[in-house]
Amino acid sequence: MQGGDGLRPACRVLASPRYLAAFQPKQVPHFFTDILVIGSGLAGLRAALGVDQKLSVLVVTKDELHSSNSDRAQGGVAAVLGADDCFEDHVADTLIAGGTLCAPEVVRYVVQEAPRRVIELIEWGAKFDQNGSRLALTREGGHRRNRIVHAHGDATGREIVRALTQRVFQAATYVPMHHGFMDLAAIMDWYSRYVLAWRVSNTLETRFCLDALDEALERHGTPEIFNTDQGSQFTSEAFTGRLEAAGIAISMDGRKRALDNVFVERLWRSVKYEDIYLKDYATADELIEGLGHYFTFYDHERVHQALDYRTPWEVYSEGLAA
Ligand SMILES: Cc1cc2nc3c(=O)[nH]c(=O)nc-3n(C[C@H](O)[C@H](O)[C@H](O)COP(=O)(O)OP(=O)(O)OC[C@H]3O[C@@H](n4cnc5c(N)ncnc54)[C@H](O)[C@@H]3O)c2cc1C
Repeated sequence: MQGGDGLRPACRVLASPRYLAAFQPKQVPHFFTDILVIGSGLAGLRAALGVDQKLSVLVVTKDELHSSNSDRAQGGVAAVLGADDCFEDHVADTLIAGGTLCAPEVVRYVVQEAPRRVIELIEWGAKFDQNGSRLALTREGGHRRNRIVHAHGDATGREIVRALTQRVFQAATYVPMHHGFMDLAAIMDWYSRYVLAWRVSNTLETRFCLDALDEALERHGTPEIFNTDQGSQFTSEAFTGRLEAAGIAISMDGRKRALDNVFVERLWRSVKYEDIYLKDYATADELIEGLGHYFTFYDHERVHQALDYRTPWEVYSEGLAA
């Protein structure tokens, strides 16, 4: 049997899909990514950081970035780190406490991984409580040894989420090289997408971001508002102090403001897919020269659909003339 529009009933369903929440796909922003991670708890953030740097990753989360069980986790992380402790004891304590709920092979795997993962978290910037120069290990629940690592007393989850979130933001700006990585900072005019200044560095220090900021302010003047992501360079006192001294209001991305950073993220995607991945730069000098050509092309030749098929420079210079 056919409907009045000539389509079979099954085809009609496909032609007008129904969604749980009312929305028009054509009217919501579209994001393209190689890997989609859902959830910004520790599992999601760690998964995002584990993805090959050559692939793009998008972390989608519900509500606020920090709204997760991970952020609320209090007591700490159990790991064999004390001189008087051993894997066998940790496994035994866990099996006694967990009883039949435990899969012994999983317990063994998790217990053996734990010290490595705690060290990884420290290397990634998590600051756990210390007794002098050693980790302050405490004893809790069914553990018979001191093996709980914690942060700020009982805000362990918050500290780990903070460190991993910051690392995820930083990873967005990594440039994969033949050997290792460089970090890229770019200052962009929001209205026109014009790249005002950029710098690369092989350290995670703030200096190269300050250099880019100085060049942007010197060559293009002082904006009213400056937006940054939550990478540690941009939240550092040196960076925010420089903006405040110039009388510039700071708008940080983060809670409830996921879309704010979308233009910069599109820039990262363009520069990576249209230049860096294709060229596979071997040295810093090659990278700097190549990016110089790319950003000139991006600002002066590459038209943007969202700018009515004009270049960033055309739109930016119009604003200057006005
Ligand atoms: C009060 C408290 C104390 C705890 N203390 C400890 C402790 O001391 N030690 C310990 O090891 N563990 C502790 N835990 C357990 C630990 O927090 C969790 O096991 C761990 O954080 C789980 O991490 P996760 O990333 O899998 O999940 P979560 O941290 O819950 O993250 C899930 C993510 O998915 C997102 N999400 C959910 N639904 C959707 C959706 N439909 N669309 C998009 N995103 C979605 C959420 O917003 C969130 O970002 C505690 C938990 C709580 C609540």
